[in-house]
Amino acid sequence: MEELLRRSEKLTTVGQLAAGVAHEIRNPLTTLRGFLQLQRETNQVSPQHNEIMLSELDRINLIVSEFLILAKPQATQFQVKSIRSILSDVVNLLDSQAHLYDIEFKFEFEPEDYKVHCEENQMKQVFINIIKNAIEAMEDGGIIRIELFRLSREEIGITITDQGIGIPSHILPKLGEPFFTSKENGTGLGLMISQGIIEGHKGMMEIFSKPGKGTRVDIVLPIAWETQTDINHEGEEPIAN
Ligand code: ADP
Ligand code: MG
Repeated sequence: MEELLRRSEKLTTVGQLAAGVAHEIRNPLTTLRGFLQLQRETNQVSPQHNEIMLSELDRINLIVSEFLILAKPQATQFQVKSIRSILSDVVNLLDSQAHLYDIEFKFEFEPEDYKVHCEENQMKQVFINIIKNAIEAMEDGGIIRIELFRLSREEIGITITDQGIGIPSHILPKLGEPFFTSKENGTGLGLMISQGIIEGHKGMMEIFSKPGKGTRVDIVLPIAWETQTDINHEGEEPIAN
């Protein structure tokens, strides 16, 4: 694994992001408007055009819902959770999709159950994004290895390694940019959003890749303190019930 991308060096500004969203949503909107206008002029509804219009609407919906994950501060609730059970939930969710592509998951977990102070849905979203990318990179199947280990007194490490197509070195620096995608149906938002979530959890994310060999995503997260009890932000004793 030679190529290294330090995600924290590539933070995008809100302005760049807003411009990107506007651009990405305007394209399908333009298509939709064109077809609607055509239908009005010809007074005919073509099933093919309808198909395209629906898929353009789906695309707008996908982009908006990916952003909603980040834009919902009132819904975030940090709790102390087992990172192993979060990973297992995500793998169960993606298992049937992986199976379709002859992909097997391999876990390497230490016996200890490490806990992190996190917003569970956001944390799941990160692993869904990364593991989906791994699946999408392995058209011929293979193994996705998921490791969870203690890195230091205060941190755990999680690595997700695939045997996929890898990322060419000239593309690596673009991964921080919203809407950069090499896929026909990609949004190019998954990594950027994952990076945002990990930073919101005081963690770090790095990507190593070797074209033709595979890609490894490293995540570092702080281990939860014992005092970080559920929904107990004031540092009071939790109320017994
Ligand atoms: P999307 O998956 O919608 O394209 P992402 O932000 O998840 O958006 O990923 C951006 C790009 O990074 C992908 O289009 C792909 O080119 C590259 N990429 C990410 N993860 C991997 C991986 N595991 N293997 C190969 N390429 C990857
Ligand atoms: Mg993706």
